[in-house]
Amino acid sequence: MDLKDLYRDVIVDHNKNPRNFGRLEPADLHADGHNPLCGDQLSVTVNMTGDRIADIRFDGSGCAISVASASLMTEAVRGKTLTEFAALHARVHELLTQHDSSIDPASLGKLGALSGVREFPARVKCASLCWHTLQAALQHETNAISTE
Ligand code: ZN
Repeated sequence: MDLKDLYRDVIVDHNKNPRNFGRLEPADLHADGHNPLCGDQLSVTVNMTGDRIADIRFDGSGCAISVASASLMTEAVRGKTLTEFAALHARVHELLTQHDSSIDPASLGKLGALSGVREFPARVKCASLCWHTLQAALQHETNAISTE
């Protein structure tokens, strides 16, 4: 099995069986995200311990890429501090948007499965929607529109 097959399997698996799907009630923070190009709608709820993401859930409906990306993100960011989140977000954003990125997808673990998205510019917003939505929640904003 080559890397492309492996990455496709990760996306299919996380779309079919999204991890951390649902809502935290009560939640310290929440935001709703919308990608008007594709119609993806996601909500993220977060509970914090100090500046650390203690728990996170997402729900909503969207295409396979948007759901798989959100599922992968929730696994990747749980337990991270706000600073660690910002660093990871920056690396994922570069991976998704820059063809000449020097980031090795394998260095991002399962998140590397999203690296194929940059070949399909229309899908980048699908993959980045959850990250924009979580960032909005962490900044105490309640609405996010995927703009890049
Ligand atoms: Zn989409």
